[in-house]
Amino acid sequence: MGLTPGSVATALPALADLRHWVFDLDGTLTVPVHDFALIRRALDIPTDADILGHLAALPADEARQKHDWLMRHERTLAEAATPAVGAVALVRALHGRGCRLGILTRNARVLATVALAAIGLGDVFDHADIIGRDEAAPKPAPDGLHYLAGRWNVSPAQMVMVGDYRFDIECGHAAGTHTLRVNGHDDAWSAQATWCLADCAAVLAELDAASAPRSRRDRVD
Ligand SMILES: [Mg+2]
Repeated sequence: MGLTPGSVATALPALADLRHWVFDLDGTLTVPVHDFALIRRALDIPTDADILGHLAALPADEARQKHDWLMRHERTLAEAATPAVGAVALVRALHGRGCRLGILTRNARVLATVALAAIGLGDVFDHADIIGRDEAAPKPAPDGLHYLAGRWNVSPAQMVMVGDYRFDIECGHAAGTHTLRVNGHDDAWSAQATWCLADCAAVLAELDAASAPRSRRDRVD
């Protein structure tokens, strides 16, 4: 369900109760910088093809050469990563509350680690909780979320997948987790998400409001 103004009061306390959070990286915790059209042109990938799927189907030598180019290109982007609005504060707040935190990205794990360090979150995520395209079948496949559910010994229904793109919502649906759309547009994928908020700053504001003492929340002055 979408988060309509009328549903805020009932939906968000459940979000605040969740203790297992999985974040997409690019466009969710970092400002999106991938130029997929450029990547497709550089690697001679059709405009309508999934980049990772296309590379996986190539002959081994060609696939390796193109993966090497992609890694060099993406490392440059990762080293220059900048945080999305409110991302660092939200992740640090959840970490401070003792929540389990994971990353599920279609990027490579090593590059996710570089990007997290670049935005000042290099010390928060357990290395084994950063799931890249080589650790599990890429989103929208649910494998990465299932892996984290097993690692954390929780059911998917106790988890929330946070992301900016349809793959994040589809992945959460396929795995059976809650989904939270941020940094998106008011489109069909926002309506498909369990919750939809403008950005990570808005998520933290809602969590803070939900955890505030009742007397403070009810105060009108
Ligand atoms: Mg994204």
